[in-house]
Amino acid sequence: MARSKIAVYPGSFDPITNGHIDLIKRSLRIFDQVIVAIAVNPNKDDSLFSLEERLAMVREAVKGFGSRVRVDSFEGLLVNYAQQIGAQVIIRGLRAVSDFEYEFQMAMMNRELNTRLETLFMMTGGSYFYLSSRLVKEVVGLGGDVSGFVPKNVLKKLKAKFDE
Ligand code: ADP
Repeated sequence: MARSKIAVYPGSFDPITNGHIDLIKRSLRIFDQVIVAIAVNPNKDDSLFSLEERLAMVREAVKGFGSRVRVDSFEGLLVNYAQQIGAQVIIRGLRAVSDFEYEFQMAMMNRELNTRLETLFMMTGGSYFYLSSRLVKEVVGLGGDVSGFVPKNVLKKLKAKFDE
């Protein structure tokens, strides 16, 4: 039997947006399984949501995709984590030119670290090219409406967070 194709989609997901969801959905056309992996960096944690909150939000947001999407977190090198879970491919999204340099560097470094692991870049969905978790937080913080940009469960959590 052919080995199942597993991709890991790493990120901060602070919080998950419709841009991320779009990428997951499109990745499922190529891979048998997509592991959404929240990166944990204990030395530099300036995230709005705790890891537990992010895990719960992502799990709820991808529930509709069923068992082909798994949600997890990892600490340390992504290449080690990918190997552990049997992923052959890292998925990253590209929005604008500004994403390119950082993503390019990281992909090259990851290839140095593990030549068998490939990074696949997916172009953002047309209507999401300006969408980032950072911008969503900024807009909510200023009282703006982000209901078109994040899943419903995330919208609720964002509102609650900023009402705190
Ligand atoms: P990181 O902190 O690792 O950049 P993010 O959670 O911000 O993590 O993003 C994870 C991945 O998803 C990155 O590759 C990022 O470029 C991509 N991404 C984020 N928002 C979008 C979007 N609107 N369209 C396409 N890709 C996106």
